[in-house]
Amino acid sequence: MVRIARLLTLLLLGTTALHAQDSTYARRIIRDLTAPEMYGRGMQNRGDSIAAHYVRSELMANGVRPLGDDYYQYFRFQQTRTRPPIVRAGYRSQNVCGYIPGEVDTMIVFTAHYEHLGMSGDTIFPGAHDNASGTAAVLDLARMANQHRGHYTYVFLLFGGEESGLVGSHHFALNPLIELSKVKLLVNIDLFCGGDEGLMVVNANSRETQPYVDLLERINDLHGFAAKIARRDNAPNSDHYWFAGECPAIFIYTLGGPYGGYHSPADTCSGCGLGNYHSFMTLLRAFLEQL
Ligand SMILES: [Zn+2]
Repeated sequence: MVRIARLLTLLLLGTTALHAQDSTYARRIIRDLTAPEMYGRGMQNRGDSIAAHYVRSELMANGVRPLGDDYYQYFRFQQTRTRPPIVRAGYRSQNVCGYIPGEVDTMIVFTAHYEHLGMSGDTIFPGAHDNASGTAAVLDLARMANQHRGHYTYVFLLFGGEESGLVGSHHFALNPLIELSKVKLLVNIDLFCGGDEGLMVVNANSRETQPYVDLLERINDLHGFAAKIARRDNAPNSDHYWFAGECPAIFIYTLGGPYGGYHSPADTCSGCGLGNYHSFMTLLRAFLEQL
């Protein structure tokens, strides 16, 4: 037991040294996705599509291979919305999808929504915490997976249309570009700034997901990466929701700040605290190594 713990510590120290740049990469992604040129990543000025193009180029830079139509899976909104996120029925948006092959075709899937509320009049909703931060984490996981090819195939799904009612992820679940029966675990990340009070895992209590959350908690108990790992039953509060019947699917978000705001113009890059980011990513890496 002691030897295993020491070995794990050595491994983690190794990964810490290797990935000292983790929050630097995430900070750049959050800064770029919250820039005025993204228009809050909604329908206005096609901010969502500008953001999708950016996410696609990051996937390519990180060695991720395309799924769908050259990384894109298009969908159309069925309903008009007049409050942010304002959308017009028939408006076309897209999910951005890719994979890094492993030794086996059993998959670990990471998901995050890259779009946000867009604009209301001249006011931009930057959406740093929600969810440039989760997008950054998933892109960062792709970067790491490319550097250390693993046993499992890794899939990266960046969804559009989340703020309008989980529209992009629903489209993907109905028209999957991967075999969902071969997914060992799906991890959705949405709201990843701050985290001074730890992490919450949604859909943590099902028969399929509980063993994974137990493992995550055991690793955290050993090393104290997060202040705590809390658990909730399933809820339709993010993109993992549609997958829960198809494969083990959990949703992780941070508890406590610092972050600038939620669904407000104050959810800015400068308000997005990344002090816990490296610890959380090290926890996720240790977790992945033990799956
Ligand atoms: Zn969100």
